[in-house]
Amino acid sequence: MQSTIAPIQQLQNWLGNGLRPTLIAGPCSAETEEQVHATVKALAASGKVSMIRAGIWKPRTRPNSFEGVGEKGLTWLKDAGIATNLPVMTEVANAHHVELALKAGMDALWIGARTSVNPFTVQEIADALKGLDIPIFVKNPVNPDLQLWIGAIERFMNAGINRIAAIHRGFSYHGESVYRNEPMWEIPIRLRTIMPDLPVFCDPSHICGKRDLLALVSQRAMDMGMDGLMIETHPNPDKAWSDAAQQITPETLLTLINSLAIRQENISSAEIRDGLSELRTRIDLLDAQILDLISARMGIAREIGQYKKENGITILQLERWMEIVKTRGFRADKLGLSDDFIRNYLEQLHKESILHQTRVMNASKGDDGVMW
Ligand code: PEP
Ligand code: MN
Repeated sequence: MQSTIAPIQQLQNWLGNGLRPTLIAGPCSAETEEQVHATVKALAASGKVSMIRAGIWKPRTRPNSFEGVGEKGLTWLKDAGIATNLPVMTEVANAHHVELALKAGMDALWIGARTSVNPFTVQEIADALKGLDIPIFVKNPVNPDLQLWIGAIERFMNAGINRIAAIHRGFSYHGESVYRNEPMWEIPIRLRTIMPDLPVFCDPSHICGKRDLLALVSQRAMDMGMDGLMIETHPNPDKAWSDAAQQITPETLLTLINSLAIRQENISSAEIRDGLSELRTRIDLLDAQILDLISARMGIAREIGQYKKENGITILQLERWMEIVKTRGFRADKLGLSDDFIRNYLEQLHKESILHQTRVMNASKGDDGVMW
């Protein structure tokens, strides 16, 4: 029995409000009964929060750090939810967690980034949930693998879960970055194009890793058309037992939410549509010219391939490639194009050019250039 994904309206109806963003807030971890109650009470008072989160079992990178209070925290969380009339959710990472979370009356569950990477574990959790009607929020896997994220979502659909949402929490990255986890917005955007009915939340807390970036990333998530936000909150963030640097007080959260510009993805007025359509026509024209130019460039690349073949010269000419990167980089910089963009663009262009040259030079050896 495979489910269809509930659109955000259905999730919102369940949550009983039409707030945008749909806001999930609460501490990274439940620490003490007082901390859970104080956080939930303050969040409820803001009137902006649709659901409470708290981690009970914490997947920590290194051992010997706080790994969650365990089962007793479920009771604190559920009681705080009942006291404020808010649904509560926690992270489950195996079938035993599911059993305890359901027994304690959790209203929704989320699948953490370290769990989404593992199809065995996701399947174990999906099997434990078979036939149950509980909303499941699936975080992206730690590595930037869209198929793995979709696969995890599909495992819950296959188990008959009707209310599923995705949570974008960023991706591990080896380079230097201002973020704790790179947002790589193109990945949730691609997810939205593949599953347009799937509600998508953003978790700015785990993307940023520090609180001063939260407002910026939350605004970006809203401008990417995301449905909701999950933000970690703590009455005394600096003293939090986990993820202290990224947590904010319920009061700061309210200021953040009130500062967001909420723009519409659907264009309602004919006048705005016309204005946009005039600008889009100009973009369409330029895109057509850009593609014609790239195609012409590939034509020359094929001629070069023929020439290199006849003269026994390698496809990659490192010196020429370095010169291209340098000169185009200078020009792009003057034109106000970002470094990152021009590097990615040139690499893709070079890759396509090599593919065309490979076909010319090595077709007789059975290489069609596709295996690059
Ligand atoms: C969390 O939400 O506290 C958490 C552990 O998140 P993630 O799985 O995204 O790292
Ligand atoms: Mn956390």
